[in-house]
Amino acid sequence: MARDPADRPETARKGRVLLAPEAAERLPGGPPRTEDQKLLRRTERPAFLDSDPWRALRILAEFVEGFDALAAIGPAVTVFGSARAPEGEPTYELARAIGRGLARAGFAVITGGGPGVMEAANRGCREGGGLSIGLNIELPHEQRLNPYVDLGIEFRYFFARKTMFVKYADAFVILPGGFGTLDELFEALTLIQTHRIRHFPVVLVGRAYWAGLLDWLRDTLLAAGAISPEDLDLYVVVDDAEAAVRAVVEGVAASRSEVAPASPSEVAPASPSEVAPASRSEVAPASRSEVAPAARSEDGGD
Ligand code: AMP
Repeated sequence: MARDPADRPETARKGRVLLAPEAAERLPGGPPRTEDQKLLRRTERPAFLDSDPWRALRILAEFVEGFDALAAIGPAVTVFGSARAPEGEPTYELARAIGRGLARAGFAVITGGGPGVMEAANRGCREGGGLSIGLNIELPHEQRLNPYVDLGIEFRYFFARKTMFVKYADAFVILPGGFGTLDELFEALTLIQTHRIRHFPVVLVGRAYWAGLLDWLRDTLLAAGAISPEDLDLYVVVDDAEAAVRAVVEGVAASRSEVAPASPSEVAPASPSEVAPASRSEVAPASRSEVAPAARSEDGGD
């Protein structure tokens, strides 16, 4: 005797639809699958993987991963500078000393995770007991994170990575560098100038290196009316590691109380004894609210 399909365990149900197994075999596309079955089924590489909607999801994933990984890092300073400064050169050693000093002052150090100044700043941070962070970028040639990174993220998209540099930093320290460094410098200045972020400290290291550019900003851009006089106060210039760390500490305190950072001439070098050593475990505890809020993006990135 034929059984009622509703009583048979092999009968497929979807909402109010009921499908006996014999009927399912005759349908185009075969028997219905559960969502898990569809998800787990292996297919050829589908064309949509190379489409913009799928790229948009990858971009979203980079933001989600970045936010998840960096949300709890505590006070941090992003250090930029040449990818080409080799170990032993003055710029490398300067970046290393700055990384060390920032760590001892209680900051995590964020870099692009690559070689040169990035490696030196990560290395110094680790030596100073700080949390050393590298946000690497996929490049045409293979590149690994430098060996001094403790928390590393690999990004495919430049702009997702740049968001992290800004969102999680309380200050920028910028050492001598090339196009990449200039891009990062001017992005920071533009964000501050247009009030996308509060006036957080932007510390240029190396007076002689930056002098030509800074003269040009004043003599050409300002003279042409392309920038305002107060735009020349958006950065400070220092020459050594102690002064750089001090400029960050003072600038962060100033932006915390929403007072404009000191002008370049007011940034006196700090003595090394003012920068107290801290162990790695001593670095993390400072909560973001102790240092950060005033310096971060005003809309909270939401
Ligand atoms: P540049 O001044 O042209 O040497 O570029 C250095 C800056 O650009 C760094 O602060 C990085 O954020 C980024 N950058 C350039 N090259 C690399 C690289 N190989 N790996 C990671 N970041 C890089």
